[in-house]
Amino acid sequence: MRLLAVLAAVAAFLAITAQPPAPAAPASAASPPADQAAAPYALAGAGAVVEADGPAAAAAPIPRVTRFRVPIEGGVVPAAPELLPGSARFYRGGFHEGVDFPFAVGTPVYAAATGTVSRIDYAFEDWSEPARNAALDNARRLGYTPELVLDLIRGRQVWIDHGNGVVTRYAHLSAVAPLKRGDPVDETTVIGRVGSSGYPEGGAHLHFEIRIGDSYVGAGLGADGARDAVRKAFGR
Ligand SMILES: [Zn+2]
Repeated sequence: MRLLAVLAAVAAFLAITAQPPAPAAPASAASPPADQAAAPYALAGAGAVVEADGPAAAAAPIPRVTRFRVPIEGGVVPAAPELLPGSARFYRGGFHEGVDFPFAVGTPVYAAATGTVSRIDYAFEDWSEPARNAALDNARRLGYTPELVLDLIRGRQVWIDHGNGVVTRYAHLSAVAPLKRGDPVDETTVIGRVGSSGYPEGGAHLHFEIRIGDSYVGAGLGADGARDAVRKAFGR
């Protein structure tokens, strides 16, 4: 059945196409090159119409989260394109899917909005440098980063589900807060600490993603467009 859902009061960046949310667990190495998709998420201004197929569409509620806090005290949306979504990552073949906030190891990281913990890496064990180098060599040869490799590069992570296919990811953490899957959080909740796990070559920073369905805020927009989209997400 084809369904037209009119999302009148939704902020521009939060339109979703009623696809099921991405699985909480990393996909297998054989999955398609998600970071190459770079398809812009649907943009919907006031009165925008989003088309969706299937019975799931009927149950899809209007997104509730329309604005996020910068997840680090004193963090600002970076100007440098390489710290923004959509920037090419030649060392692994692929594209950056988040925003980088360079901060010292141990800096508290806050949930960006009200939600529920959907992943928290307690028993995290970082991969070895030889394994990392071999995986990155292979990714370069492939021309994209397999999802499992991308997940290992992100290191110790927390994911927060905000409902309606919107998930925020916090990566490279040095530690996670004493939370468990299913715990409710809001923008006052410290969910972890800045680190450089997964890819120490990148130095200490928070890698932060706003996922919407299968895509992410800033995908396929170019540096200026990505910066605008990220600013809008933070209400800046
Ligand atoms: Zn990053």
